[in-house]
Amino acid sequence: MVYSKAMARLVEAFNKLPGIGPKTAQRLAYFILKLPREEVEVISQALIEARDKITLCSCCGNFTEEQPCHVCRDNRRDPGVICVVQEPRDLLAMEKTGEYQGNYHVLQGAISPIDGVGPDNIRIKELLERVQQGNVKEIILATNPNVEGEATAMYISRLMKPLGVRITRIAHGLPVGGDLEYADEVTLTRALEGRREI
Ligand SMILES: [Zn+2]
Repeated sequence: MVYSKAMARLVEAFNKLPGIGPKTAQRLAYFILKLPREEVEVISQALIEARDKITLCSCCGNFTEEQPCHVCRDNRRDPGVICVVQEPRDLLAMEKTGEYQGNYHVLQGAISPIDGVGPDNIRIKELLERVQQGNVKEIILATNPNVEGEATAMYISRLMKPLGVRITRIAHGLPVGGDLEYADEVTLTRALEGRREI
């Protein structure tokens, strides 16, 4: 495929986005070329503005336009409980439940030696500092139930336990509306381990 220079740059730019392969990148590029100039301006300005204005919350590590973020500023929340998540979108998912009243800590990643991500590359040091300040009673580890998420949860648990704080891990199990016979062995084992009295 022979593109003009500008077209090649545009396709290449879209191709860098997660989940966008060369074909989708090409489709998006053609879509942009057909848009009125003003609409392209709105898109490009939104990109730059978001990138410029949104930073990490100095306390929890969530994306925010204010310091600290609105979640950290909310004084109705229990300062003694911190829910640790990998990404800002995980925080959003927890908030949507409407069930959680504590604070958060966003790691901005998970430990993954294969990808060259060690404990120092995610916001574990910042979490340690928050716990060392002394008000934290419980840390809820809500990292993903995969290899990286488990490794991260294990690392944090070992690091924080000597500080005398209660460490809990969210339960893993069967999805609501799911069928027992279609569940894989690992999920079923976890569901059994995480059983509770009713
Ligand atoms: Zn915050």
